[in-house]
Amino acid sequence: MTLYLIAILACAAFLFVVAPLFEPIQTKLNIFQENSTTALDAIEDLDLEYASGKVSEEGYKAVRSELVKDAALSLAKTQSCGHCRRCKVPLKSADLFCGNCGERATS
Ligand SMILES: [Zn+2]
Repeated sequence: MTLYLIAILACAAFLFVVAPLFEPIQTKLNIFQENSTTALDAIEDLDLEYASGKVSEEGYKAVRSELVKDAALSLAKTQSCGHCRRCKVPLKSADLFCGNCGERATS
């Protein structure tokens, strides 16, 4: 009985450790697209709340300008992620690492 429990616990621990290896890797592009979508959704919600009178004009303008900045920054990052800081090779927006030298791409 004890061996049976140990075997079950060992299998559970093994699955717990191995499970993340089979999850899809979220690329930087996915993250930027998700961030821009979130910001655009928040702008839409804020516009609706302002139109219904739930938000003051002062608060609306301040929050909206920040959300627009966030959305624009995220959208810009989906377009280009710049160059590798080590070898200066252009990087694609979805790259996590430089294909030339292996340097980690920074956001
Ligand atoms: Zn490089």
